[in-house]
Amino acid sequence: MLILMNPGPVGLSEGVRQALLKPDLCHREAEFTILQTGISQKLLEVYALPASDWAAILLTGSGSAAMEAMLCSLVTNKVLIIENGVYGERLTQMAVAHGINHHCVSYDWGQKIDMAQLASTLDQHPDLSQVAMIHHETTTGLLNPVNAVAKLCKQKNLGLLVDGVSSFGAEAIDFEQLDACASTANKCLHGVPGVSFVLARRRLFSTPPQVARSVYFDLHHYLSCQTQNTVPFTPAIPAYYALDTALDELKTAGGWQSRHQDYSHKMALLRSALPRLGMQEYLSQGEHSVVLNAFYLPNQLSYAQLHDQLKQEGFVIYAGQGELLNIFRLSVMGNMTVANIECFISVLEKLLNGQ
Ligand SMILES: *Cc1c(COP(=O)(O)O)cnc(C)c1O
Repeated sequence: MLILMNPGPVGLSEGVRQALLKPDLCHREAEFTILQTGISQKLLEVYALPASDWAAILLTGSGSAAMEAMLCSLVTNKVLIIENGVYGERLTQMAVAHGINHHCVSYDWGQKIDMAQLASTLDQHPDLSQVAMIHHETTTGLLNPVNAVAKLCKQKNLGLLVDGVSSFGAEAIDFEQLDACASTANKCLHGVPGVSFVLARRRLFSTPPQVARSVYFDLHHYLSCQTQNTVPFTPAIPAYYALDTALDELKTAGGWQSRHQDYSHKMALLRSALPRLGMQEYLSQGEHSVVLNAFYLPNQLSYAQLHDQLKQEGFVIYAGQGELLNIFRLSVMGNMTVANIECFISVLEKLLNGQ
């Protein structure tokens, strides 16, 4: 079996794989309600959020579905979107597609957010109601300073909507200052693609809009159904089974903190080995996530050559996006072991020495 070092879908544990084979189920039966309620409770438990203040709202779709639902449902007037990679830019595409009033603060991909500039931009737009940003920008592996932005939002009385698609379950997230966080089953939680979710403050749902911006992506509708033990549309039930098991496994393994430690150790192995083999890290120490890092390609190989040769040896790596043609990306999400990482490093070493 291939070791997936792409940022999701991730390699599955045997337990999660087996969960996909659980019994056929009708989503209008009590068994489904139990499954749905269980998952949403377990999602709140990952960051110890009280169910009295927070709801974990599940929907069927990939991580982008959760991002789109969060924007469509929770922007009350005008949102400031921070872009410094593909996913920040995707938030803007979504705002445009739904006619959501927005203003962008754009940086080059991988560039850090300038907090002073952000503060003055917030002051220039008194009609803002929310800020939306990416926590871990998977384009480059950059970890954006959610807590600092959250503090600023609090000072200015703005809600903060966070894309935590590639950080939820493995990076520290201070929910104290957030309004909502969107994520998915098949990244740091180690489930399969098909189910995504938004964790949001319950108070945001007290006055549903007269007309929703979207039918499928209306979180108000999902939450009201969930509260009544039902679901608006046909859910991806096997993906729910898998997520339920994946959340149990995360808890047994020691929660997000243990997963963070585990990823951190694996990423440290890669970050120490690759520069030695001629592939420098794209981001310096202190800026990157533990989940995924980007590295410059070695001089002697194109991405396609590197990818194809590694795939023959059992490892799937990931290309740079857009104009980042001189990098490749490695994720440590999923069921890979330290031995797999060590094997990857030695395969890479042989391959480069063989050139
Ligand atoms: C993977 C990812 C997404 C969503 O991708 P899907 O392909 O829709 O699952 C969104 N934001 C970030 C930061 C991601 O890493």
